[in-house]
Amino acid sequence: MKKAINIFAAGILCLSMISCSAAGNHPKEDAAEKSAETTAVESVSEETSAWNSSGVPAAENSSEEIDYTTGTPWMNIDLIGNVTADTPADPKDNFALWANKDRILSLEIPERYGTAGDLVDITIKADADRKAMFHGPVPENHDARLAYDYYYLLADWDSRDAVGVVPLKEMVDVVEGIKSLDDMTEYLVNTPGENRLCCLWTQEARQDPEEPGNSILSLKYGYYFLQDRAEYREMTDEGEYQKEVFTTFLQKMLVKLGYSEEEAAQKIDNCFAWETAANSNDPDEEKDDSSEFTNDIDHLYTRDDLMAITPNVPLLETLEKADGYPAMDKYYIQDPVYFENLNELYTEENLPLMRDYLIMEGIWEMADVLDWESYVLVSECFSALNHEEPPKSDRETYPESEAYSDVNMLLGWAVAQLYVENYTNPEDKERISKLVDEIIAAYRGIIDEADFISDETRAGAYAKLDHLSKNVLYPDSWEPYSFEDVDFAAKEDGGTLWEAYRALKKHEHGKEVSKASGPYDKTSWDSFPFGVNCSYEPAVNGIYIYAGFAQGNNYHPGISDEELYAKVGAGIAHEISHAFDAEGSKYDKDGNMNNWWTEEDRAAFLKRNEKLAAYYNAMHPWEGQDFDGDNMKGEACADMAAVKCILRIAAGKENFDYDKFFRAFADRYACLDTPQMAMVRLEDVHPMNYLRVNATLQQYDEFLDFYGITEGDNMYLAPEDRVAIW
Ligand SMILES: [Zn+2]
Repeated sequence: MKKAINIFAAGILCLSMISCSAAGNHPKEDAAEKSAETTAVESVSEETSAWNSSGVPAAENSSEEIDYTTGTPWMNIDLIGNVTADTPADPKDNFALWANKDRILSLEIPERYGTAGDLVDITIKADADRKAMFHGPVPENHDARLAYDYYYLLADWDSRDAVGVVPLKEMVDVVEGIKSLDDMTEYLVNTPGENRLCCLWTQEARQDPEEPGNSILSLKYGYYFLQDRAEYREMTDEGEYQKEVFTTFLQKMLVKLGYSEEEAAQKIDNCFAWETAANSNDPDEEKDDSSEFTNDIDHLYTRDDLMAITPNVPLLETLEKADGYPAMDKYYIQDPVYFENLNELYTEENLPLMRDYLIMEGIWEMADVLDWESYVLVSECFSALNHEEPPKSDRETYPESEAYSDVNMLLGWAVAQLYVENYTNPEDKERISKLVDEIIAAYRGIIDEADFISDETRAGAYAKLDHLSKNVLYPDSWEPYSFEDVDFAAKEDGGTLWEAYRALKKHEHGKEVSKASGPYDKTSWDSFPFGVNCSYEPAVNGIYIYAGFAQGNNYHPGISDEELYAKVGAGIAHEISHAFDAEGSKYDKDGNMNNWWTEEDRAAFLKRNEKLAAYYNAMHPWEGQDFDGDNMKGEACADMAAVKCILRIAAGKENFDYDKFFRAFADRYACLDTPQMAMVRLEDVHPMNYLRVNATLQQYDEFLDFYGITEGDNMYLAPEDRVAIW
């Protein structure tokens, strides 16, 4: 499916998990975000800063008025044009410039990108690698073969056009046949989940906050079109715009399905009326803002509790009879107000709204697996949502440009197996896993020596480290991601995309049900290993170092130890540090939001965070432009703790080549940004790359001493002014 969605800082940011998808809450978006990591043209991932140049907000000031070379305490060397062959470079003045000058002068920003550097190169490589996989020999492995076959079914436009919108029309007609509230109940309760057009709520498995070894079913609001639920309470201009874009798309699809223009307009109105009514209550309204923490346990509802707030809605019957979930003693309800509201709305009077809501959401869900015309309409809709020009859609180039990422939508894990077989190996996994263990041991030392926390808090921090889930390159076992139960006919055997799609939807549904009913698997991956990314997931207390990240300049089997520590090692240590930054530290060893801090220690910790934020607030990328230190404190904290970790390891090594290490660390961040990209980076949670080098390294005596940096040098920072939190 679709190109990744990208407004401005779109994509995946570790920890904060901000995903600025241009559309509301849809399964499509989840998958699009996942693939965004790999298409990364459009993604901002944890370590990746490879945004494309389109969809970027225009600079507020015209670039002609700004002298970009006026940054303090360092010139922003990331900006194109700021560094020239004549620019003097001295490690004591601007280390990042000194280390990276030659590289910066040689970098060129690739077409369609707003920046250049290692991560752009690795992203381009990942794209090319993944395309190539589908043109090699037919794989023997069952799952890899499914991915391979699905790719060619996606690209089989003659068959797709022959099928047209007929299968969707059949599903729509069933919903049109709902004439009473009893019919609606009947539809929900008796249609297997994978065969329903849509539902009035959504569900997913998550960890039981009371019994972390078990899974629990989390029930949430239904799908909705607009990006933010708040739009339904108070519409912004952007909300109006999105509504208009979806209306255009739905109108055309409905006409294709045989409705008149007037009927279509009415149905779209009905759908938005339902979404507005269903999202009319503010889930945060009654929240007590006095506490930094919310407690996951407060969201647990027994069966009776749940039935008490939804007596009118066939919620449990649908889950158990149609979806096949076992009856459970308790459920996790993220937003009880939604269900109370739904209970009021589930009436005969609202039947036309509910019906048309199911139809509109179903169309949006499935249009892109139908014919070429529908596919183009979905693509155009996504482009418009991203404020981009529509793509030049072309049936001939589709396999090269889009099919290879569309195959991820339902078969990402099969694609992942194909990728891992082709581009990485168990020796790499073992080497990097050892590195993870070494870094965790060093982090223990950091916690040992932290003088601002009591032994009680220290015990909570140790527990987080001891329970950290370590996910390196790819899953240890493919079994949980297996498609062994799926079979569909390949193109040459007369198969169609629609049949394959239905088979995969059924599989996906069954997988969700079994996930919610078994023990909670902390080691399960939510993102595909071919992503050019690393992350820390607070709700799992786990780090993820994806195979797509350990490529190119970041990692190759012959890499020296110093470079390995600087590139992959610092990345791993950075992710672990997120367990102990302002946000991640709110979660306990099991990934639940539980406070493991004493009041006094927490206050001291937050004070250190304030000092860190203030340090960035005092810097400027160019004259007159501020940074938002508060926004960046989590990432800056992680960068600094990461280097501290590696320096602890280095201290125990004989003949550790510090120069090689510090230069490799700087090299990792060498980049070249367009001015538009600089504007995007101002909003990002990561400090700009030159600061990730300079402001991080200057915290440590090992660095200052090695290069003889002392008071009076621009790179010098007095011990009392240093801001590393750990
Ligand atoms: Zn981070």
